[in-house]
This record gives sequence, C-alpha cells and structure tokens, in this order.
Amino acid sequence: MNHQPFEEWLLNDKNLTPTEKRDLNLHLRTCTHCTALSATGLALRSANVAAPAAGFSMRFQQRLAAQKIAERRRKLWGMLVLILGGAGLLGWFAAPYFYTFISAPVEWITVIIGYFLFAVTSLQALTEVVSVMIRIVADFMPPYVWMVLVSALAGFGLLWIISIWRFSNRAPQGVSA
Ligand SMILES: [Zn+2]
Repeated sequence: MNHQPFEEWLLNDKNLTPTEKRDLNLHLRTCTHCTALSATGLALRSANVAAPAAGFSMRFQQRLAAQKIAERRRKLWGMLVLILGGAGLLGWFAAPYFYTFISAPVEWITVIIGYFLFAVTSLQALTEVVSVMIRIVADFMPPYVWMVLVSALAGFGLLWIISIWRFSNRAPQGVSA
C-alpha cells in the first residue's frame, strides 16, 4: 500500500487543508500503519502539553551539581586510598631492602652498578646482534621486498593514526554545565 503523502503529513505534523484532511481520513480508514502513526503523534502532542512543574529545572540542576560534587569527592577519596595503599605496599616490600642497604651501602652500590653495567653491555651486544642480522637479511632480500615491507608498514601506521583520530573525534562528550 502507498502511504504517501499521508505518512509525510503525519510525521511532519502538517497543517492540512480540508481536502487533504478528507483524503487522510479516507486513507486512515483502510491503513493500520498510518492510523498507528497518527495515534503516536496525538500521544506525543498531549505529552508535550504537560509542562514540567515550576522549579523543576532548577531542582534538577541543583541535584546535578550536588551529584558532581559528591562524585568528585568520591574520586578524591578513591585516589587517596589508592595512593596510600600503594605507598604502604611499596614500603612493606621495600623495607627489608632498605634496611640491608642502610646496613651495608657500599656493597649495595657496587651491586647496583654491576647490574647497570650488565644491562648496558647486554644491550650493546643485543644491538650488535640485531644490526648484524639486519645486514645479513638486507643482503639476502631483493630490494622490492624491502619496498613492499616499508610500504606495508607505512600503510599500517597511517591506518593506525586514522583510527585513533576517528576514535578521538567520536568519543562521547560528558554532561557539561
Ligand atoms: Zn498508510
């Protein structure tokens, strides 16, 4: 069944001429779809007539502000508990090391320097190994494979940036007042 232009009139809440009104009534008599539509429109209009009670929006805003303050306070307390808990836990774990460090600082400093040197030398060895491997692979692979690899990486990077951009633009905004 063809619902136009009646559907259009009902959806837009159009002011109808007498002829149009007669046509619409004729269509409504045979069409359940448009009858339902017109009933919904009537319900919405009668709902619009019921204005909010006086002072409602003010009370609403006051409640919103109170909720915001309460939420901020809750967040602050949560953060405080988290920080204190973390500091306590850290102290609990670090205390024995701290005491041994205080009792023999020189030994500990040598141990720490030893670890640091170990880390640096292993990092150097690792970079050397990686550079050698890259050289071997570079000799082994023909140039067009490199081109494909580089362009694929660039494509992925671009996709990543675009997806981040789209996500940050689509992020829902909170209620602001
Ligand atoms: Zn219809």
